[in-house]
Amino acid sequence: MVVVQDALMVNSWVRQALISTQEVIGAGGLEQVLQSASLERYIRHFPPDNLLSAVQTSEYAHFQEVLEDIYGRKGRALLQQIGKVSFHYALGEDPILVGLALRLMPPHQRLQRGLTQLLKISKKNNPKLRAWVQASPDGRLAYVDRTCGVCYGRKSDAPLCHYATGMVSEAVVWAMGIEYEVCETHCIGRGDEYCRFEVGRPIG
Ligand SMILES: [Zn+2]
Repeated sequence: MVVVQDALMVNSWVRQALISTQEVIGAGGLEQVLQSASLERYIRHFPPDNLLSAVQTSEYAHFQEVLEDIYGRKGRALLQQIGKVSFHYALGEDPILVGLALRLMPPHQRLQRGLTQLLKISKKNNPKLRAWVQASPDGRLAYVDRTCGVCYGRKSDAPLCHYATGMVSEAVVWAMGIEYEVCETHCIGRGDEYCRFEVGRPIG
């Protein structure tokens, strides 16, 4: 297993995760999660919007864990929704030219472009990111991350990076215009070498 060195997260990345959480579960919900996770210092004081690595990755992972615990069976879907909202915050202004170029691409290339865009914005926010887009010989595409912060220091029998699954799903929607199945096939929290999110079939 790869040990993430200097396990700190960039302020702006955590800020955007907290803003997205607030958007999905409300300010009261966020406050409750921060309190239960012993992260009261972030209540109404989000990390600043800069690229300093200043938030403990273990705290970020714990925040995700507590949110899932508090919301029980709904927790997983909520975290995916938060990941989806977060993708748009990270994406920023949607460049018109990128949108036009996307429409001209064949579907497979377009899908790949969506995952590459997620890689690009994640790298911008985390210079230490070790992630890539993987194409299997059978044509399946996946987003792979060896430095996943969601499951950092956590242990589970099942994959647990629902927030990241949401981000990958939304990157696909951004590129394709429709929802696709996204499945976390590998998870560091389960003892795998990396977290891997595979894009499946279109939904509906
Ligand atoms: Zn993970």
